[in-house]
Amino acid sequence: MNRVYNFSAGPSMLPLPVLEKAAAELVCYGNAGMSVMEMSHRSPEYEAIIVEAENLLRQLMNIPDNYKVLFLQGGASTQFAAVPLNLIGRSGKADYIISGQFSNKAYQEALKYGNIAVAASSKADNFTYVPKVDRSAFRPDASYVHICFNNTIYGTKFYYIPDTGDIPLVADMSSCILSEPFDVSKFGVIYAGAQKNMAPAGLTVVIVREDLLGNALPYTPTMLDWKVMAENGSMYNTPPCYCIYMAKLVYEYLLSLGGLEVMKKMNEEKAKILYDYLDNQDYYIAPVKPESRSMMNVTFVTGNPDLDKKFAKEAAEAGLKNLKGHRSVGGMRASIYNAMPREGVEKLVEFMADFAKKNPK
Ligand SMILES: *Cc1c(COP(=O)(O)O)cnc(C)c1O
Repeated sequence: MNRVYNFSAGPSMLPLPVLEKAAAELVCYGNAGMSVMEMSHRSPEYEAIIVEAENLLRQLMNIPDNYKVLFLQGGASTQFAAVPLNLIGRSGKADYIISGQFSNKAYQEALKYGNIAVAASSKADNFTYVPKVDRSAFRPDASYVHICFNNTIYGTKFYYIPDTGDIPLVADMSSCILSEPFDVSKFGVIYAGAQKNMAPAGLTVVIVREDLLGNALPYTPTMLDWKVMAENGSMYNTPPCYCIYMAKLVYEYLLSLGGLEVMKKMNEEKAKILYDYLDNQDYYIAPVKPESRSMMNVTFVTGNPDLDKKFAKEAAEAGLKNLKGHRSVGGMRASIYNAMPREGVEKLVEFMADFAKKNPK
């Protein structure tokens, strides 16, 4: 059977060469005589894998030495609690920018742990843009400011890094990590579930500035305490071993292509194909304001829910899978992460034009 173009928001496509390498090593890894899935996480072979994974990620993202890299479980959603549990002890207060459903979930979770303020929100406009704020939006004594850098469901992204002064900036980068270079030093914490652009589901990466460790609230579960995880090299308990191995293969592959500058260029080109098409026709509506358009998740609707449904169904039959929008917003969403080939986007645009012709409104 042929592989399809999978536009799923997550879990999503992985690069074919990575899957092939994993397949080749699946039963016997190197000279270990066993699969990575069967290895003790304390074995020398596995130790080499996790160390290499961290080194490659540091290289790819140019992570400064004063940041720890943690390989955790629980998904980005667990970090919605871990962030306040680890950081809010500094002043009891934190500020959130609400730019979509995940940032709202992060905010709702934080409400359990302290005095939380909404610094800005685009909810009143259906999250069709990312709020632009300056330093005056934040309380000077906030322990941190939280943002969601790319809003997977609505298809928006931050085109600027909010200036928070001395307040650590915490960013959920689940759906944009590794899509382009970011200046890590501008952030106190970056976290990301791996299943969008990095690895299979089951791994969450946290990149945290060292001086922020050690502020966990006394009742923080040990498993959510970043300091404990950092002191134990992400091996306080059994880490998601195989996912970390897969992430390592993805990092190797991205480096072999030239790193994140190259990914950015490829991703910009792919997104441009879709947005240029959307801007030059009047069948589909792209709800996101142009200045906030995501490079990773492109949303559009026909304006008729029945046609939207027909679109997703017929696209899937044509080998363009998972184009149905998130259940909370409807319409269509094309997630075009690193692993989506340009050809997949071109095929999608061809299909869109053809569908518009065959289904007059
Ligand atoms: C998918 C996603 C999440 C949720 O991730 P889980 O790993 O399922 O908990 C959170 N934030 C963003 C931006 C996402 O895209």
